[in-house]
Amino acid sequence: MKRRSFLGLAASGAILLNQSTFAHSVKPSKVVILGAGFSGLSAALTLFDKKIDFVILESRNRIGGRVFTHKIDEQADLRVELGAEWVGESHEEVKKLCDRFKIQLNDNRFDTDLYFRGKYSKVNKWDFDADWKKKLDGLLESFKNLNSEQQKLFDRLDWWRYLVNNGIPENDLYFRELLDSTDFGESIRHVSAFSAISEYAYSSKKNEMDLKMEGGNSTLANKIADLIGREKILTEHHVEAIVQKGKSISIKCANGKTFDADRVICTVPTFALSQINFSPALPKAKIHALDALQYARINKCVGLFSQRFWKREDFDMITDTPAHYFYHATKNQHHTKGALTSYSVGEKADMFGWHGDDYRRQTIIDSIRPIGDARNYLQKVFNYNWGQDRYSKGAYAIYGTGQWFTLQPELKKPHLNVHFAGEHLAEWQGFMEGAIVSGRDAAFEAI
Ligand SMILES: Cc1cc2nc3c(=O)[nH]c(=O)nc-3n(C[C@H](O)[C@H](O)[C@H](O)COP(=O)(O)OP(=O)(O)OC[C@H]3O[C@@H](n4cnc5c(N)ncnc54)[C@H](O)[C@@H]3O)c2cc1C
Repeated sequence: MKRRSFLGLAASGAILLNQSTFAHSVKPSKVVILGAGFSGLSAALTLFDKKIDFVILESRNRIGGRVFTHKIDEQADLRVELGAEWVGESHEEVKKLCDRFKIQLNDNRFDTDLYFRGKYSKVNKWDFDADWKKKLDGLLESFKNLNSEQQKLFDRLDWWRYLVNNGIPENDLYFRELLDSTDFGESIRHVSAFSAISEYAYSSKKNEMDLKMEGGNSTLANKIADLIGREKILTEHHVEAIVQKGKSISIKCANGKTFDADRVICTVPTFALSQINFSPALPKAKIHALDALQYARINKCVGLFSQRFWKREDFDMITDTPAHYFYHATKNQHHTKGALTSYSVGEKADMFGWHGDDYRRQTIIDSIRPIGDARNYLQKVFNYNWGQDRYSKGAYAIYGTGQWFTLQPELKKPHLNVHFAGEHLAEWQGFMEGAIVSGRDAAFEAI
């Protein structure tokens, strides 16, 4: 059993999400999908395979959504990820799709240096306290042996408080804060202990930071689009209103175009969803859930360097400076030039997002100092702040204490013939895997 699998079942009330679980007597003749992220593309691929007609309406001028590969150097053909980076070893559906579309998955694991309280320690020269490590392993193991009702109780407290209450030594607490906050996108004071324990108890050794697609993760979006037909994906079609009358649905876009359908699959993040005008209106409980769910503040600032002065291809470094977490973003791309991404969360991400490139350059130079004098090599910086993204207003959903079992079931419920999907509704929430599985399941639900 993986991460939150028992949970997904409890929340949806479904035993197996396959076509026969849902009871539509007549197959829809036309489905409109909102969003060409991984969730929308996965829904479309499912319909394509079932030979059901569909069209995707996408606000942006590109596909992929929060999967966003960017060429940081055209000439050197160096690509970096502004959104999703790693494919986890446990992410079965992503791996199956990569197999289907013949996309190579490259090793993207790193070995972590630490720059903490002014002291730099190379990989293998720092670690968690040995007794605490043993204790935490025991706690994670005993969590797996609890029944689901007992596990649910951990949703009442946050991860920070859980660690403190269990006697974590001070240094280790701050290491965990630095490391785990990059997973959740905010301080672990905001993260449900249930979410954290169920993630760490069931994840791969490197915590799902295992692989990356050859050519960048957008390759999968492009391959799916090529197969289902590019003409089926209408970019710059921002949906503003959905009107359901009897069995027919009318979908209105900001560019004045209107589409008719008998089912809609809506894969947009909650902020974008809350901006769509529904008639009849969404139920109050769903609106409350949309308002309550937070999204993580994550900023990625990529530095392009004339030389890979960090030397190790598998270099990454966690730091308590504002740059927060550095990793080699061009691993497996052979060139003398290379890129390091500074990945920061919470207030640190805000600082990167709000200030200009001078601040970003200086912060990178100061924070990477133990590795080398970056002034000699830094050619440019490129920044993307997901907290300011127009459609998601954050990187991915972050379920706080007491929210997983209350908000997610509400957000999953269909509204008449409109079905919902997206990473925020998945067991593997916050991952490409979750987006893909939830899009596929919503397509089955809709037909
Ligand atoms: C910084 C960052 C790091 C990440 N790291 C990882 C990682 O390492 N590994 C991993 O597996 N996952 C990672 N993720 C998460 C992963 O990117 C997401 O889980 C996944 O891409 C979400 O897909 P989605 O289809 O649910 O949503 P989206 O990709 O957001 O797709 C929704 C689409 O809907 C469109 N849209 C919004 N409003 C409307 C509207 N009104 N009308 C029409 N279209 C609309 C949007 O433009 C968007 O394209 C990361 C994400 C970020 C941002």
